Amino acid sequence: MSASNSLSRDDSCLPNQGFKAVYKDLKQLLPNQVRLQEPMFQHTTFRIGGPADIFIEPHTMAALREAIFYAKIRNIPVFVMGAGSNILVRDGGIRGIVVKIGRHLARIKIDGVTVTAEAGTTLPHLALTCCQANLAGFEFAVGIPGTVGGAVVMNAGAEGRAMSDVVQEVLVLGSKDCFDRRKKEDLGFGYRSSNLLDHNQVVVEVVCQGTPDQKEHIQERQKKHLHRRQNTQPLMYSIAGSVFKNPPGFAAGYLIEQAGAKGRQIGAAKVSLKHANFIINLGGARAKEVQDLISQVQEMVAQRFGIQLALEIQIVGED
Ligand SMILES: Cc1cc2nc3c(=O)[nH]c(=O)nc-3n(C[C@H](O)[C@H](O)[C@H](O)COP(=O)(O)OP(=O)(O)OC[C@H]3O[C@@H](n4cnc5c(N)ncnc54)[C@H](O)[C@@H]3O)c2cc1C
Repeated sequence: MSASNSLSRDDSCLPNQGFKAVYKDLKQLLPNQVRLQEPMFQHTTFRIGGPADIFIEPHTMAALREAIFYAKIRNIPVFVMGAGSNILVRDGGIRGIVVKIGRHLARIKIDGVTVTAEAGTTLPHLALTCCQANLAGFEFAVGIPGTVGGAVVMNAGAEGRAMSDVVQEVLVLGSKDCFDRRKKEDLGFGYRSSNLLDHNQVVVEVVCQGTPDQKEHIQERQKKHLHRRQNTQPLMYSIAGSVFKNPPGFAAGYLIEQAGAKGRQIGAAKVSLKHANFIINLGGARAKEVQDLISQVQEMVAQRFGIQLALEIQIVGED
């Protein structure tokens, strides 16, 4: 439910006239939180993506639960997202319901060294709030523009640290419509992955542990991280995160550059000259152009090094 890469069209779930009825229902159930045919490019950092049939941004945990439960009992596919900073939504958009967990579900509570953040909390907000509370360990997250929910699912990381270093447990909305606590050991964390990606679970809250430190020292490290990003990432463009995972022993950006793919362009999608593991949207790029560019880069790297680059961003929706 939460992270399907292959939401296929299933008109039996949501026939054309059907989804208008579903929209009407949901609008009554969740006032001011539901939209019809919502352009997904407005909800992704790539600024790319066709419409979602129905788009819900729940204002409360109860509303989130209602939305998921409503979809489940009617067998309507659901795609759960956060800040949309690690997804490429195809040009045909997303069938069924998209649930965005964002700014309405973004409270943070700090109790000693224990930090409890709702899934819609952004990572920079988490890092800055912990810094104010003299808690270290979250500096790596200060420049990652995702939500805590998306970050735990992806095991986002930087500077040699990742969410798995700070997470203690997560609260998920399980497939049986109840909230369920899952300990770190049960989350199957790996390099940019967790088993939350495979299970039908929605992350609603994340409990982390920080380490006491002086605010000034934490700020110093955060500044360094932000500075490094400014210098190495094409932040002036609409981008998602790193397109490819680093294969063992290599940096994907290095391989792409050495294979001669840096600067390659299809339509308005271009392999960044600043960092070859980013694809930039020069303005109005279509998902198809990005996908074709991805395939070209993969082919060039495979030919030159015999290495198949795996995607770090997730491609969702329909052509
Ligand atoms: C400029 C830039 C820099 C970046 N730098 C880094 C970096 O240094 N390190 C790094 O790891 N990533 C980086 N990223 C990628 C991205 O920010 C992270 O992967 C982030 O954790 C994704 O969070 P999100 O909320 O945007 O998730 P989304 O992109 O919205 O979703 C990603 C996946 O998580 C699932 N998901 C999201 N929220 C939930 C939830 N609450 N419950 C269940 N499933 C959920 C979605 O279904 C999807 O499968 C960068 C991106 C950008 C644009």
